[in-house]
Amino acid sequence: MAAGLLKGIKAIIFDLDNTLEDFATAEAVAEASLAEIVSGQTRCKPLEFLSAFTEAKHRYNHELSPAAYSRLVWIEEAAQVVHIKIDAQELESDYWKILRKEVRLYSQALETLNSLRKLGFKLALLTDSDGIPGLKRRRIDELKLTPCFDVIVTSDDVGENKPSLAGFHFVLEKLGLPASACLMVGDHPEFDLAPAKRLGMWTVWTQERIVFDRSFPFVDFKIKKISDILSLPGFT
Ligand SMILES: [Mg+2]
Repeated sequence: MAAGLLKGIKAIIFDLDNTLEDFATAEAVAEASLAEIVSGQTRCKPLEFLSAFTEAKHRYNHELSPAAYSRLVWIEEAAQVVHIKIDAQELESDYWKILRKEVRLYSQALETLNSLRKLGFKLALLTDSDGIPGLKRRRIDELKLTPCFDVIVTSDDVGENKPSLAGFHFVLEKLGLPASACLMVGDHPEFDLAPAKRLGMWTVWTQERIVFDRSFPFVDFKIKKISDILSLPGFT
């Protein structure tokens, strides 16, 4: 990749979950804890509940509506499948309490954002809803990320999750930049990077959590950890 091309980049747009924060680890802890709590309240075994919850999650995982990520709905559906009566709202609240306590930014995430800022890039965050309007923004605040970005857009703002182009268009509008001046960084090739490339952005696939050797025509660069972005050709 010619270094000169990246010199035209004025803004970097980041995904959040599993790109800047280790969502998957916190999610696994929250789901296992949820299953234990349910098991303590009913006759349902933890693994039985977890399996029904995971099925519900996968059913909704590719829907564009931000409400599709509502843990309340997944919990209610799982309870129906395993025939138990529970207080789904209280369990949803328990789930998020545990997840918010567990979730961590990847090492060097804040430092990398600060370095990119110092290099003169505008920074944006484009992330899907947590299923409860406003919750994702609260989590971004709790992670102390809010001051790091010039623009923050969640799918709550635009009414559609990735891979819809709605959020990408909204970020570009807020940045006041053409797609060709932006680099999109995400862990999910089809959701974060395919739509970005369709609009003409540069793309970086970050594989901090899961490394798999596959190539996609819409991925320009692969990095192993978020701080590797500082070593992209033409950046430093
Ligand atoms: Mg992600």
